[in-house]
Amino acid sequence: MENDIFQTSGNSVGASLNLAGLNPSQREAVTRTDGPLLVIAGAGSGKTRTLVYRVAYLLEQGVDPGKILLLTFTRKASQEMLWRAGQLLNETCRRVVGGTFHGIANMLLRKHGHHLGFGSSFTIIDRADAEGIINLLKGSLGLTGKDKQFPTKRVLVNILSGSVNKSIATDDFIYDSYSHLSEHVDDIINLEKHYKEFKFNNGLMDYDDLLVNWKRLLDEVPDARQEIAARYSHIMVDEYQDTNLIQADIVRLLAYGHENVMVVGDDSQSIYSFRGADFYNIMRFPKVFKDTQIIKLEENYRSTQPILSLTNDIIRNATEKYAKTLFTQIEGNHKPRLFAGRDEREEAAFVSNKIAELRGKGIELKNIAVLFRSGFHSYKLEMELNSTSVDFEKRGGLKLTESAHMKDLIAFLRLRVNPFDTLSWNRILLHLEKVGPKTARKIADAIAGGESPGQALSEYPCGKNWAAGVAKLAQLFKDMEQETIPGVLYERVWAYYQPLFEKIYRDDFPKRQKDLDQLKSIVAGYDNLQTFVDDTTLDPPDTAKGLSTDDKERMILSTIHSSKGLEWDAVFVMGLADGRFPHAGAGIGEQWEEERRLLYVAATRARRYLYLTYPRVLMTPDRQFRRVGMSPFLSELRSGLFERIDRDGMEGSGPSCLTAQSSSSSAMTFPKKAKKKKLSVGELNKGVRVKHPFFGEGVVNDKPQGRSVEVIFQRHGIKTLHLDYAKLSII
Ligand code: ATP
Ligand code: MG
Repeated sequence: MENDIFQTSGNSVGASLNLAGLNPSQREAVTRTDGPLLVIAGAGSGKTRTLVYRVAYLLEQGVDPGKILLLTFTRKASQEMLWRAGQLLNETCRRVVGGTFHGIANMLLRKHGHHLGFGSSFTIIDRADAEGIINLLKGSLGLTGKDKQFPTKRVLVNILSGSVNKSIATDDFIYDSYSHLSEHVDDIINLEKHYKEFKFNNGLMDYDDLLVNWKRLLDEVPDARQEIAARYSHIMVDEYQDTNLIQADIVRLLAYGHENVMVVGDDSQSIYSFRGADFYNIMRFPKVFKDTQIIKLEENYRSTQPILSLTNDIIRNATEKYAKTLFTQIEGNHKPRLFAGRDEREEAAFVSNKIAELRGKGIELKNIAVLFRSGFHSYKLEMELNSTSVDFEKRGGLKLTESAHMKDLIAFLRLRVNPFDTLSWNRILLHLEKVGPKTARKIADAIAGGESPGQALSEYPCGKNWAAGVAKLAQLFKDMEQETIPGVLYERVWAYYQPLFEKIYRDDFPKRQKDLDQLKSIVAGYDNLQTFVDDTTLDPPDTAKGLSTDDKERMILSTIHSSKGLEWDAVFVMGLADGRFPHAGAGIGEQWEEERRLLYVAATRARRYLYLTYPRVLMTPDRQFRRVGMSPFLSELRSGLFERIDRDGMEGSGPSCLTAQSSSSSAMTFPKKAKKKKLSVGELNKGVRVKHPFFGEGVVNDKPQGRSVEVIFQRHGIKTLHLDYAKLSII
């Protein structure tokens, strides 16, 4: 997949890499390029930085860029890392492969999946799609009905996915983790069999399939294993503590024959066990790779001493951890602050006021973040911020493509690349008047057996009442068959779908329209529809809030899970109330410990200012108000590590929180605030800096070919944009 191949780039050739920006242990991790290497170290100790330098170092040593594989937790992370590596080298045209496990799996399975019986145009389905299929199958297998106490689609997907990610047989997984559903084991196993068949017959893969099939490919097909293992001679993995057993196996198999593999991680930051992540992978690594060198990094370069003292204390109480001692040379006299609001509104007002204060002291909005456990914890704050001049971008909540109208529109585009996708057929056929699930299934079957969807639809023997609807749809697909440019395909679909859309979402279609506008501008950024369809499932953008098209700097509101690996000058962690953090369902034990690590991850994002806040009153799901205390993780902390701020804003006895210090500039050297200039095709020479409303800033990689131009975006990698549709501007 083109998007997973990110090209590091610069303008002049040959500047040699300076390793002076590394301490001796980091330097060792960078330069020891042969054999297995494990870097286990605490937050902010430079693990990610070490990987960036290592990529640059390998390139400088003459390693073929296409042989370097960098696996990261998000695609943005790998793209940013490769961008930085390029900046360090200041060299041209290097090709390094970077992406998530799922992204790379997608790329490799499209190429080699035929060994396992998959075509190259399979469609990736998300969680909601998986639930949709399970629901269809529940119906057809007779597992629904009032008298049946069969689990919901949500629970069923949790079971099927959980067993895969934890590498446990489904029946054992049910007996272990869902023993109250034991009586349904046979039905669930049967459902699982049908679910697998359905996906295979429709050319669909869910997220788990991507990993499972990648592993199978390496494990079961010696030719593919040899080809792939030989293709990547140097493998690196960031955030290794959040890999699961399948991913660990993939890493083992990938390194087959050369064992040049480096993984970095911090067991104290493992926060994805609910997805099957297993931080023991870090500990197993030296057992899997016998000659592993282990490097520990002990200096924290991110946070001031008062912040580090507090974060060390959060993790001190963890029941299981591998001892790491972190120190910092960054002094600071601002202890973390704790604030308890009367209720959520007061908590939000406090955060908002403090943000204004921080800005007044020179901290830029982009260097401030507010973190919380779940997306809905920030609603009050969002309302508060909307009434101020603070612009923000929200990460980690609902995804833009998760809502029904977005799924509708994407369904048409998915069918353009994979006409066997019954799930999408079902979705759009049910929009037709007088067409119910049974007819929809029959039509979908006819399409699957026909020559092309347009043809099959127009030949289908329709009833009088619904023939006109099917004819329109047939015409749409015939038109789409002639077209490949995603932006144009979108326009075609929209012309067909708009009247339906306004009818289906009669009550609130203007609001939903805004999402579709966003989608339209995103589609326009692609010249390959398959890539667009993959990205909407593998790396869906967050909801529209904050994705606007201007140049404004934005503050980040983010779930803690989405803040992994990042850092800001000032960090607020909200909602630290008992019952909310840890969340009410987390019993004592593993889950409790994971919640503690989550707080550790949150607090270790802060460079200079850390605020911990909670409301004293929370609303329960049945709309009752309940008094709550502070999170037990805070009450456990040693006294003196933070200062309380009382309700009229007075701080404790310590020094004032806002001593005038200028904000430290971010490590990126990319100019952020350049002014837009109107686009002219002739000006789009290689190296010209441009901006796209969704992908942000980038550099033209090659002069336009016809109406397409290739741009390397700082955070989204390479995109080939069609000039008639992409709203590019020169900066
Ligand atoms: P996390 O566990 O949160 O992912 P990490 O170990 O990956 O953290 P980095 O993000 O790589 O840490 O580094 C934290 C900060 O410290 C970054 O701003 C990085 O540039 C800086 N840093 C790391 N090492 C050095 C160094 N040797 N000299 C100066 N700055 C450094
Ligand atoms: Mg990191």
